[in-house]
Amino acid sequence: MTKGKIVLNFLKSLQFRLIVIFIVLAILPGAVIHIGLIKSYEARALQIRQSEVLSQAKILSNQIATKDMEQIEADTALLSQIDSLTSLYDGRVMLVNNALRIVLDTYNLDDGKTMISEEVIKSASGETKVVYDSNNRYIEMSIPVINPDDELGNVRGVLIVSVSTDNIYLTQNFLWQVGLSVEIIAAAVIIFVGVLLSGHLVKPMKNISKSIESIQNGYGDTELSERTYTETALICEDFNQLISRMRVMDESRQEFVSNVSHELKTPLTSMKVLADSLNSMPDAPVELYQEFMEDITKEIERETSIINDLLSLVKMDKSAADLNISAVNINELLESIMKRLQPIADKQKVELVLESFRPVTAEVDEVKLSLAFTNLIENAIKYNKNDGEGWVHVSLNADHQYFYLKVEDSGIGIPEESLEHIYERFYRVDKSHSREIGGTGLGLAITRNSILMHRGAIKAYSVMGEGTTFDVRIPLSYIL
Ligand code: ADP
Repeated sequence: MTKGKIVLNFLKSLQFRLIVIFIVLAILPGAVIHIGLIKSYEARALQIRQSEVLSQAKILSNQIATKDMEQIEADTALLSQIDSLTSLYDGRVMLVNNALRIVLDTYNLDDGKTMISEEVIKSASGETKVVYDSNNRYIEMSIPVINPDDELGNVRGVLIVSVSTDNIYLTQNFLWQVGLSVEIIAAAVIIFVGVLLSGHLVKPMKNISKSIESIQNGYGDTELSERTYTETALICEDFNQLISRMRVMDESRQEFVSNVSHELKTPLTSMKVLADSLNSMPDAPVELYQEFMEDITKEIERETSIINDLLSLVKMDKSAADLNISAVNINELLESIMKRLQPIADKQKVELVLESFRPVTAEVDEVKLSLAFTNLIENAIKYNKNDGEGWVHVSLNADHQYFYLKVEDSGIGIPEESLEHIYERFYRVDKSHSREIGGTGLGLAITRNSILMHRGAIKAYSVMGEGTTFDVRIPLSYIL
């Protein structure tokens, strides 16, 4: 395997996908929680800072409101209060009188200047404004200074307090770094565990694949037994069933091959015995030669009929797609079969009767079905009495879906225990009797295959010494 293929195989593997899932699960929730916590901390801390400063600023504004604005710088008690506010929050306090002139600036930068900003103007008309500047990280609030005793509520000035949010930002930064380190450690641990776990999770699959390989190579166990998961147990069960079906098929194929060899060898052995005995008698009379040659001819005929039956059987074993379907008049088909078999029946002194209850035309493969029907009727004649009392009764009937063929005989019958075996290849109830009358043991196997290819059914009933009945049912229209 090339390097590229190995990498591609790994990328396509279940193990790799499990690792990816673990990585995503390790990083994503942590990152979401981390970012969410930091953001909500920031919002909450700003809110708290804002309300704390605002309430203190309002207290301050109320105090200022009762004082003379121009003399504020001389009010040491107030100044120390302002001082503690600015140092506590790292802030700046400015006071603007109603002419918008700055009368106090804790930074001492803008004293005496006029302040015209949107917020101050709004506050000068009585509104409290709070602005957060996230870029420069400070909160600025402007509060109107109104004497609570002034019934008219005249604004005497505006108190501007700006406090830094740097320490909130620093805490946030610190939290971010702590969170990130925790997250990286947790993700590393989860990914490490994930890689180990994914290897463990896919192990049963790898075991299955190894076991299949060793079954294929013919060593190790003959069955899969990986029961870690329900799914693997099901796969093993299905696989074992498949294997045992294949074994049965293999055994039956082997049995068939050995049966075929045996059946084909028997006539050859007889021919060799006959030829050898003639060879060992150089002075044998012509009559003996003729008699032996007749026997040899019979054996050749037998060999030929076995080979012909085998060929028919092989054709029937092929898929149903090989059927040559056409509309066939079944009454005529049966009549012609009966006509062909009449000489054999006459020889056996068996009476042959055909009874057709209605005209039947069906979509069938004429050659294959005719072979099936011929075998059934020929068997009924062959395995019959030859004392002149024997009869074979063939009847044809149909309904709207199927046609039915019944082949009844007054023959020797089939033992109960043999009824389920008669369709097996080379199965014969009485081997020597069947051989005597030229049977190969393949006829009913061919018949059954042909009927099944037409999606039909066959059933046999028999009473020993009284006779046998074969019931056949075939659909009138061919179903794919
Ligand atoms: P064979 O070539 O030996 O006739 P078949 O497959 O046609 O082979 O039949 C299998 C066996 O079933 C026969 O050997 C015979 O023992 C039995 N058999 C089939 N048809 C009849 C029948 N109508 N009456 C009695 N026995 C039958």
